Parts: sequence; structure tokens; C-alpha cells
Amino acid sequence: MAVIIDGKAVSAAVRTEIRQEAAAIAAQGRAPSLAVIIVGEDPASKVYVRNKHKACAECGITSFQHELPADTTQEQLLALIEQLNADPAVDGILCQLPLPGHLDEQAVIDAIAPDKDVDAFHPQNTGRIMTGDYAFLPCTPAGIMELLRRYEIPVAGKRAVVIGRSNIVGKPMALLLINASATVTVCNSQTPELAAVTRQADLLVAAVGRPDFVTADMVRPGAVVIDVGINRREDGTLCGDVRFDEVAPIASHITPVPGGVGPMTITMLLKNTLTAARKHMR
Ligand code: NAP
Repeated sequence: MAVIIDGKAVSAAVRTEIRQEAAAIAAQGRAPSLAVIIVGEDPASKVYVRNKHKACAECGITSFQHELPADTTQEQLLALIEQLNADPAVDGILCQLPLPGHLDEQAVIDAIAPDKDVDAFHPQNTGRIMTGDYAFLPCTPAGIMELLRRYEIPVAGKRAVVIGRSNIVGKPMALLLINASATVTVCNSQTPELAAVTRQADLLVAAVGRPDFVTADMVRPGAVVIDVGINRREDGTLCGDVRFDEVAPIASHITPVPGGVGPMTITMLLKNTLTAARKHMR
């Protein structure tokens, strides 16, 4: 049976460190701060935003909430971002995605000042992941690397397979693994003979967004399996991309859903906010 990677416990440990560092920053002037923008009424986004504010409060990070109505125009949203970019009391800015359909997400991402872009979605920050010379890392892949480090799971020299190539998870995950000297294969919906590819993996990262997609026959016995998926089954229950009951008995390590990758994502957002605050202190 695999070691279950406890994202909640690692997250709690990292948040203790963050709390201490936030207090040290506050003692030198003001507490680190994060501005969170939410447009519209998407219930999942509201839950995510509430959790982000709660996590900030627990760690001594000031958070400002900007709730905008669903019919906010592109100009109004960009004007708010410009105002936050210029505000010396704001260290990090996050605009909760997805935005309502009439808004141009990429233009919004591009408008956030790169030194306040704590989601690390601005092209300047995504480009820096490629060169390995970065200030901020995107939160989910960064959280996964932190889990691997804390469980002392070696990455260098390993064969890693990432299923999924999204800009927020799959692609940056692949880059971080390349930077950590893994040999990386990135799969997408057109990858032929997917199971034959995933069975090569010493480290398998599933970021597909389909319930129970990765079955035991797709996993090499002894592999480390990281499940990024957050999905709802038809009966409403939460699950990942991996058939945990089948895969856990053959993997060496596995992340559960919930309680694996998920808690690390917000924790890394807090870490990026501290990085931004430190930059703004200089
Ligand atoms: P996404 O943008 O929908 O990307 C999914 C990727 O999976 C795409 O690249 C897609 O390929 C690939 N894919 C779909 N079907 C496939 C198949 N049959 N074979 C191989 N690849 C296939 O999703 P995402 O934003 O990366 O998110 C993925 C999952 O992670 C979702 O469940 C999301 O909720 C979850 N998530 C969790 C966290 C967290 O904190 N734990 C954070 C972010 C996301 P194509 O490119 O060819 O379409």
C-alpha cells in the first residue's frame, strides 16, 4: 500500500512558517497584503475566494476583497487593476478565474503588475519559469514540488509523465520537473496509447479534470502518483482524476482527493504574497 501524501499536514507546517515570516515583515512596517478580485456570482469561485481570505487571516496577511458585479465592463476591471498596481499598500493581486464570458481573461492577466502577480500567470512570470529564474511560481505546480521535497521523493533522473497541458497546471508542472532534472513527457487528449506512456512513469501527475480517469493498468507498480483533479461524480461526491482504490495498492506514494494537492495551492499563494511583500520592502 502506498504512502498517502498528507497535503493538509504539509500545508499546516508551511503555513506555520509563513505566519512567522509574515509577523517578521509586519514588525518592519506593515503586514504583507493581498487584493482579491472576484467578478460575478460563480459559487465555486466564491468558495475559493472565501478560503483565500480565511487562509490570509490565519497567517497574518491582510486581504482586501473587491467584489464586482457580473456586468462589470473590461474598462472598469482594468481600471481597478491599475489602481491596485499603483497602491503601495498592496503586495499581491489576484483576479479569480474564470471571468464572465464577456471579459477578456488574458488582457486582465496581462494588466496585473508582474511584481504583484502572485498567481504567476502574467507572461513575464510564466516565461521566467522556462528560464528557471523566477520570483513567483504558479501555485498548484509549486505546491506539488513542495510535497515532493517534504516527502524526500527524488525527482532528478526520474521519468515523469504529466497528463494535461493547461497553462495553469500541466505546462508549468512539466517545466518545474524539467528544471528539477526529470525526463518529462507531457500528454494531451490526442496522445496515442496513453496507458503505455503513463506506465513508463516513475512519477505520474494527473491534471485531466475527469473523475477516475487513471486506472491501475495505467500505473507502473512503485510509481509516485500525484492527483491534481478536483471533480464531482454524478452523485455529487468529490473525487480526483485517479482511481484511488485501485492505484493506492500498487503506487509507492499517492496524493488523496481531497487532502492532497488542493490544500497546497492556497498555501503557495500565501508564500508568493510574502515574496511580493519582501520585494516591496526594499
Ligand atoms: P484543463 O485546462 O481542462 O486541462 C485538462 C488537460 O487534460 C488538457 O490538456 C487536456 O488535453 C487533457 N486531457 C483531457 N482528456 C484527456 C485524455 N483523454 N487523455 C489525455 N489528456 C487529456 O484543466 P486544468 O485547469 O489543468 O485542471 C485539471 C484538473 O485539475 C481539474 O480537475 C481541475 O479542477 C483541477 N485543478 C486542481 C487544482 C488544485 O488546487 N488541486 C488547481 C487547478 C486545477 P487537450 O489540451 O488536448 O484538451
